[in-house]
Amino acid sequence: MNTIKNKKIAIVGGGPGGLTLARLLQMNGLDVTVYERDANQHARAQGATLDLHEESGLNALQHAGLMDAFRANYRPGADKLCVVNKKAEIVFDDHESSHRETSRPEIDRGPLQQILLDSLLPDTVIWDSHFVSLSPQDDSWKLDFKNGIFAFADIVIAADGANSKLRPYVTPLKAFYSGYTALEGVVYHSEVASPKIYELLRGGKIFALEDKISLIVSSKGDGSLVFYTCGQHEESWTRDSGIDFSDQAQVFAWFQQEYADWDEIWRELFENAASSYTPRPLYCMPLDQTWEAAPNLTLLGDAAHLMPPFAGEGVNMAMLDALELSQCLLDTHYPDTQSAIAAYEKQMLARSSEVAEQSLSATIAFHSPDAISFMLGVLGQSEP
Ligand SMILES: Cc1cc2nc3c(=O)[nH]c(=O)nc-3n(C[C@H](O)[C@H](O)[C@H](O)COP(=O)(O)OP(=O)(O)OC[C@H]3O[C@@H](n4cnc5c(N)ncnc54)[C@H](O)[C@@H]3O)c2cc1C
Repeated sequence: MNTIKNKKIAIVGGGPGGLTLARLLQMNGLDVTVYERDANQHARAQGATLDLHEESGLNALQHAGLMDAFRANYRPGADKLCVVNKKAEIVFDDHESSHRETSRPEIDRGPLQQILLDSLLPDTVIWDSHFVSLSPQDDSWKLDFKNGIFAFADIVIAADGANSKLRPYVTPLKAFYSGYTALEGVVYHSEVASPKIYELLRGGKIFALEDKISLIVSSKGDGSLVFYTCGQHEESWTRDSGIDFSDQAQVFAWFQQEYADWDEIWRELFENAASSYTPRPLYCMPLDQTWEAAPNLTLLGDAAHLMPPFAGEGVNMAMLDALELSQCLLDTHYPDTQSAIAAYEKQMLARSSEVAEQSLSATIAFHSPDAISFMLGVLGQSEP
């Protein structure tokens, strides 16, 4: 029996997880609406390039019938990597080699979002829908949004990311602080604005690791670059550091102090970054989390299993969740939606716990005195 036929499905959050799920359900004839907080598709700059993995992100796109669109939009060579120390001395560079030709192709977040949006029927995504609360209505739900609009749905899926407002309706568990905070910056027109970094990047990525700090730079297809620098900070650092992260000069002053003996090349980033730094304290959901499956409400992606980004799995896990959830919901062997949700959550929680554990270990290793050795190990290289 298909228990979700003729049911109204609301997905809250139009990130990679929510949009992938919408596509997978809609292509099977289901009634899906995505409620997204952003005012429109272009309201927010999309962050760095993502590598999609064969068994997860690409697998979901394959099932969604979107591999041709992906091939037309991914960035060959964007996975090429240069690993350096703080003096910008190269310890690993695979730009010339073909040995890592990739099962993990890179795509910018903007084009990935576009592919997914283009695959949906018109008006599937209702923009400017900032979810605030959920109330039960017999066997269904009423969703209320900040702008006073409301909607009804038989099944609600939370895909609203790291600070999910829907998570508390499923579990009282809360994310714990990992001990690390990243600062995200962007340099537009990077070829002109930061020519030395641009040359080192060569359309790929730079990992600079030393002093228990990571600095990861990614090129983007529009000529900009995105960088994240991460280190150990108090949970309240974003608030208590006294730095106004929207003031480029203040962040630059902090950089000069904290990175005093790093090479001059890194100045290019902090001198030329747009005044739109985003501090990101990194949180993780408990690895042993579990809960009783609800009859018509579940979570996916960061809403379900937020973790630090150092395993490079967040988007991949969100898209694999979407695939597995769609498969469970469409599986006619389950007697009811609750059983389908329970089956999905069982495998999703087990899988994400393993990945979150790897991600926490990688976070510590990337910020240890042996970070470069760790990175070379990940790349299958021995120390020079
Ligand atoms: C610094 C950093 C670097 C990262 N690098 C990588 C990487 O290289 N590879 C990788 O795989 N992952 C990476 N990640 C993780 C990745 O970004 C997330 O895991 C992934 O985006 C999760 O997808 P999602 O669809 O679950 O949530 P999101 O992408 O967060 O999407 C959630 C959506 O919900 C919307 N939303 C939020 N609240 C509401 C609300 N109340 N009402 C309505 N809509 C709402 C948001 O606007 C957003 O569109 C990184 C994360 C960080 C912080």
